[in-house]
Amino acid sequence: MKRFHKKVCIVTGAASGLGRALCEELGHEGASVIAVDINETGAAEVERMICNRDGNACSFKLDVSEAERFDRLVAQIIEKFGRIDFIFNNAGIAVTGEMSEITYEDWRRVIDVNLMGVLYGTLSTYRAMVQQGYGHIVNISSLAGLIGWPLNCPYATTKFGVVGLSISLRGEAVARGVKVSVVCPGLIDTPIWQTAKMINADRQKILDSLPSKMMDPNVAARKIISGVIKNKAVIVFPFFAKLLWWLLRINPILLHPLGKKRINNFRSARLATQ
Ligand code: NAD
Repeated sequence: MKRFHKKVCIVTGAASGLGRALCEELGHEGASVIAVDINETGAAEVERMICNRDGNACSFKLDVSEAERFDRLVAQIIEKFGRIDFIFNNAGIAVTGEMSEITYEDWRRVIDVNLMGVLYGTLSTYRAMVQQGYGHIVNISSLAGLIGWPLNCPYATTKFGVVGLSISLRGEAVARGVKVSVVCPGLIDTPIWQTAKMINADRQKILDSLPSKMMDPNVAARKIISGVIKNKAVIVFPFFAKLLWWLLRINPILLHPLGKKRINNFRSARLATQ
């Protein structure tokens, strides 16, 4: 019997990249997939893809930064399915640029989606899961949420927040029957690299200078599902990401050369655009 068979699984940011791949893999596992995204057409496409393969899926439009709407959607899902087994709080955005040039407006949007959106998804489902006495909350952070990421201060700030929220709640939730995991992947080959706001730099040059190869999103989704089955507290992959996290814990100075290289690359890409 597959572990996700007939499990009610909400995935936010389901229309693209990692969220889409998670929906696809959960669909293969026989889950009832609830694809949620601000992009209604994209979420509906994911629903169709799963249903065309004889899976179970439905889709909803939601901006995760809207708390009341998130609460209402969770209530609607419980009414329809009777319970929620898993939520993957995956929706996320990024802004790349020098700290001195990132506006408060950019900061607020990244915080609203990446941190508050994850908080709303966590809290609305946690309350329901406590009543049920079971459930598993899976929050998608990033390697940037463990080691930081120069030139992505808003993103790294929110991703550290997601790690703090998840690890803290895990300790509190266990006695109520609810599991919490946080996922901190390295680079994944998704459209975020094309859609992230890039302030005063040549996107292609930045992409060409990334420190490691990008993972296929479906491979990443399977790693996440495997970590969730094992109820891991922090799911980190690939090996390169684990290595960097380990080096940071030995001594943060060990990561300085990597950060310095990234900043130099960014600044040369930046000069080329001016
Ligand atoms: P993506 O851009 O391909 O997908 C993000 C999805 O989130 C899109 O479908 C988008 O419409 C949706 N979304 C954005 N704002 C939303 C909102 N307010 N409400 C609802 N949906 C919203 O990006 P991705 O790379 O698949 O990112 C998924 C998650 O994985 C993010 O949290 C990201 O930070 C994290 N992550 C990505 C990488 C990577 O290298 N791609 C690495 C580590 C972590």
